[in-house]
Amino acid sequence: MSSEPDIAIIGAGAAGIGAARRLAGTGLCVSILDSLPRLGGRAWTFKTPVAAVDLGCGWLHSGDRNPWTHIAEESGFEVDRRATAWGEQFRNLGFPKADQEAARHVFARWSEQISTTPPASDRASDALDKDEPWRPYLQALSGYISGDELERISAKDYAAYDAASTDHNWRVMAGYGTLISASLPASAHLHLSTPVEALRLAGQRVALQTTVGTIQPLAVIFTASTNVLAGETIVLPSSLDPWRDAAARLPLGDNEKLYLEIVGSSPFAAESHVLGNPRDPATGTYYIRPFGSPVIECFLGGAGARRAAAEGQDAAFDRAIDQLASQFGSSVRRCLRPLVGSDWAGTPSIGGGYSHALPGQAAARIALATPFDSRIFFAGEATHRTDFSTAHGAYESGVRAAEEAIAALAPHALAR
Ligand SMILES: Cc1cc2nc3c(=O)[nH]c(=O)nc-3n(C[C@H](O)[C@H](O)[C@H](O)COP(=O)(O)OP(=O)(O)OC[C@H]3O[C@@H](n4cnc5c(N)ncnc54)[C@H](O)[C@@H]3O)c2cc1C
Repeated sequence: MSSEPDIAIIGAGAAGIGAARRLAGTGLCVSILDSLPRLGGRAWTFKTPVAAVDLGCGWLHSGDRNPWTHIAEESGFEVDRRATAWGEQFRNLGFPKADQEAARHVFARWSEQISTTPPASDRASDALDKDEPWRPYLQALSGYISGDELERISAKDYAAYDAASTDHNWRVMAGYGTLISASLPASAHLHLSTPVEALRLAGQRVALQTTVGTIQPLAVIFTASTNVLAGETIVLPSSLDPWRDAAARLPLGDNEKLYLEIVGSSPFAAESHVLGNPRDPATGTYYIRPFGSPVIECFLGGAGARRAAAEGQDAAFDRAIDQLASQFGSSVRRCLRPLVGSDWAGTPSIGGGYSHALPGQAAARIALATPFDSRIFFAGEATHRTDFSTAHGAYESGVRAAEEAIAALAPHALAR
């Protein structure tokens, strides 16, 4: 490991890889370090014997303006542009058509109110009538979208994402994680299984203490999640307290996935979808046989993801199978097998799903993205003003931080 690289990137997720791609070809010596033994961070395509499944990001949100779409096609990865099945309830199971329309109408009205007449409290729940019967449905959606209950979501932050996103949700056939991990340029010196334990200022440089020694880059691009930055896993100087404070106001919500294998003949149709229980705020939402593969993806958000963590993965799989059996009939139990599940909240170098601003705290994204002393540059999904919580927002934040670092290091380059 070079002991004095020009730039060290902490984190080899979408943001770190985005930064490394922008730095490639500049002549700067770049090291990229990650605690995990693999690339990608929250982008992780896991290969099971029956299908490659995305345990983290899976959808190229705003696909028509998503930089990963271009990178995928440039590198020979096939992009699937079919519309997602989220908006459908297979055979209206457990969710009659009239109820679907009523629930979606309430969601649309709430969304509209958030953007046109947001509540003075900036609390997303305050845009909803207290006795709204579809409140549990909206809480479930808030779990999927933001990872937390509406009471803990900033309306302004939510509206900024909503206004910027397009309705194009695409997929990479080989998996989003596969694409992102394959996109690190060869010029970056990669160090996996290398957690940064402490960061301190050392003269004009920054000292990063890792489990395999200390390096002293001129600049650092910091991409670890907000829960990591606000937490205790990295010892940081007190001068970074304002950034830790901003991170605490942008916590990660809870989002997890469980994959079930479908064995033998079953009623499960390819590319179909069911919401488990539209009246349960902790319900799973099920994407059935993506790309025709013999699996079902159960997505959990907010209360559902926290319940799964509290009960343990075996119980969470049992609950998912119960929910599918209640809709498709108990005979489906014999063709469902637990395959693999995520544990983002329990992974110390990640710590949760994706960031949301607490009520009144949307501006924390700007504070978090501000460089420290022209030598520490902050990236990661949470630093994006509109496309936070996504892999493309993470990528763009990495590019932005790399450009800030290039500008800051220009005098050093001239002095060489
Ligand atoms: C279940 C789930 C589903 C999702 N679905 C989608 C989706 O469909 N579409 C979408 O666009 N987004 C989705 N996302 C969000 C998306 O995955 C993230 O926003 C994005 O991957 C974050 O990238 P990042 O680089 O900012 O952070 P990370 O991926 O968290 O990368 C930061 C890296 O820093 C490393 N690190 C932390 N601490 C240290 C340390 N001390 N030393 C060294 N390394 C360290 C971590 O190990 C990690 O690899 C999903 C996320 C989850 C959890």
